[in-house]
Amino acid sequence: MEYIDIHSHIKMENNLDSVIKNAHEKNVVITTVGVDKKSNRKCLEIKTKNPEVQICLGIYPKHVLEITEEELDSEIEFIRKNKNKIVGISEVGLDLFESEEIEKQKRGFGKFVNLAKELDIPVIVHSRKAEEIAINFLENFEYKKIIMHCFSGNFKLIQRIIDNGWSLSIPTNVVHSEHFQKIISICPLEQLFCETDSPYLHPAKKFPNEPANVVRSYEKIAEIKKLSLEEVRDKIGENWERIFGKS
Ligand SMILES: [Zn+2]
Repeated sequence: MEYIDIHSHIKMENNLDSVIKNAHEKNVVITTVGVDKKSNRKCLEIKTKNPEVQICLGIYPKHVLEITEEELDSEIEFIRKNKNKIVGISEVGLDLFESEEIEKQKRGFGKFVNLAKELDIPVIVHSRKAEEIAINFLENFEYKKIIMHCFSGNFKLIQRIIDNGWSLSIPTNVVHSEHFQKIISICPLEQLFCETDSPYLHPAKKFPNEPANVVRSYEKIAEIKKLSLEEVRDKIGENWERIFGKS
């Protein structure tokens, strides 16, 4: 079984080949995500050249605000056409840190959640400074394949995510973040994933981060849940197969 980084932005790296090689050496599956039209096409290009890399396509909340409804709909159609190449919808969500214009963000986000539902693939959600709004909004969809990425909301909200049967992904900065360490201790292993959010959130606060480092999140889960690294890797591998439909 392999380690899986469910969320990274490797298209931003100029040393793409060595990032992919390092991940391969550490037995790490890379999932890289698109944030706009251009990066979605870059993800597809990476996938064509490196079939072992998994990809998610989507439009990041800030970029939803920069395009018209027609452009958004045509991008959704583009993603639908490429459904056989993707494992999830990301990076999508709501963000009140970068803009307070929430209604248009919600309209766009809703379309992506419906697309994920239609394709029966997970939606990996960004919810910075909009954690409660995002949960309220997502509860309307009655969809289980929801993964809250790098979730910074409070523990009442985290409990709601768990009770809804959704998942949380633990970034590599967990090594120095009590918040994410506490998420590990309260969330069942069946609802956990790991991510690097490369090039951000380096475990040693450096830049850039890379998918090979995702093992640090797995190690922290093993330590807190008092399990072996192999048990954690295999269990999360089962989560991956169940929710992303990949083996
Ligand atoms: Zn991200």
